[in-house]
Amino acid sequence: MKYDVLIIGSGPAGLGAAIYGARAGLKIAVFDKSPISGGQVLTTYEVDNYLGLPGISGGDLSEKFRQHADALQVPFITEEVVEIRVEKDTRYIVTSQATYETRTIILATGAHHAKLHVKGEQELAGMGVSYCATCDGAFFKKRTVAVIGGGDVAVEDAIFLAGLCKKVYLIHRRDELRAAKSLQKKLFALDNVELCWNETATEIFGEDCVEGIRLKNTKSGEASELAVDGVFIAVGINPETELFQNIVDMDEKGYIIAGEDCKTSCEGIFAAGDIRKKQLRQIITAVADGANAIASVQNFFHS
Ligand SMILES: Cc1cc2nc3c(=O)[nH]c(=O)nc-3n(C[C@H](O)[C@H](O)[C@H](O)COP(=O)(O)OP(=O)(O)OC[C@H]3O[C@@H](n4cnc5c(N)ncnc54)[C@H](O)[C@@H]3O)c2cc1C
Repeated sequence: MKYDVLIIGSGPAGLGAAIYGARAGLKIAVFDKSPISGGQVLTTYEVDNYLGLPGISGGDLSEKFRQHADALQVPFITEEVVEIRVEKDTRYIVTSQATYETRTIILATGAHHAKLHVKGEQELAGMGVSYCATCDGAFFKKRTVAVIGGGDVAVEDAIFLAGLCKKVYLIHRRDELRAAKSLQKKLFALDNVELCWNETATEIFGEDCVEGIRLKNTKSGEASELAVDGVFIAVGINPETELFQNIVDMDEKGYIIAGEDCKTSCEGIFAAGDIRKKQLRQIITAVADGANAIASVQNFFHS
């Protein structure tokens, strides 16, 4: 059996594509290594910026997305994709259990935020530890937070949070930032941001939610403590694109190069959601990519 389109990933991008694909009457299926759909949304305590559903929990939003796809009878296959192959007009998806034939593929495997791997990080995730300032910043209005990192994302997060919070500490393990100079200029002009140079986090602590962070100076070895209500970890994001390295073009960080039409460098293969090189990685933009990817699949069939 040959599918019209196979979608890898059942996060917002994959489910957005599934809904548009099913409604377009295409023969589709969605793969996910996890039996529960939602991707990163499942790890989100509260989503406050998805249009029309303010304050919904990540679990509930994921369930709503999946219910919508189920109502359209989208087939889901709980298998991890381990390889994709392209041969003339046919594309193949290989899992540990079978090989599937398809005319087109939508890659929607998402991304994961790099972890600090310190005590308290996992335990307090969603209870003051966050990897997304755009998503969670509003929960820390007029409070004190720490941002960890020194690149563009960390500095952008610190600037964004400075507009909401009483005080922002930016904790960096070196004595200079990697972020763009223009961002640094904006950051240094802010009164409520304090730079903590040459410091690494050794522990995030708190009873039921974050109460503070323990630091160690990389030069003197001296230990210290900061009282904060939230910790934003911005030490990198890794797109899940390793499998596709020899198939589609990527930038130096591993994001797939594709425009708003989600077309990659390989004919018949489309990239949607957080894996795509783009400005803003959010649920709303991932869902939009899914819809656009299906429009491009339809154009591909008619070209
Ligand atoms: C803690 C946190 C909080 C966030 N809060 C918000 C928020 O409040 N608002 C907002 O708009 N955005 C938020 N985001 C960002 C948002 O979740 C992402 O932008 C969005 O989920 C991206 O969707 P996606 O479909 O591209 O990828 P993902 O959500 O990452 O989904 C990818 C899916 O692909 C599957 N997959 C990966 N590899 C394979 C494989 N080889 N085979 C089969 N399946 C595979 C994964 O299991 C996963 O289900 C948050 C992110 C995090 C981590």
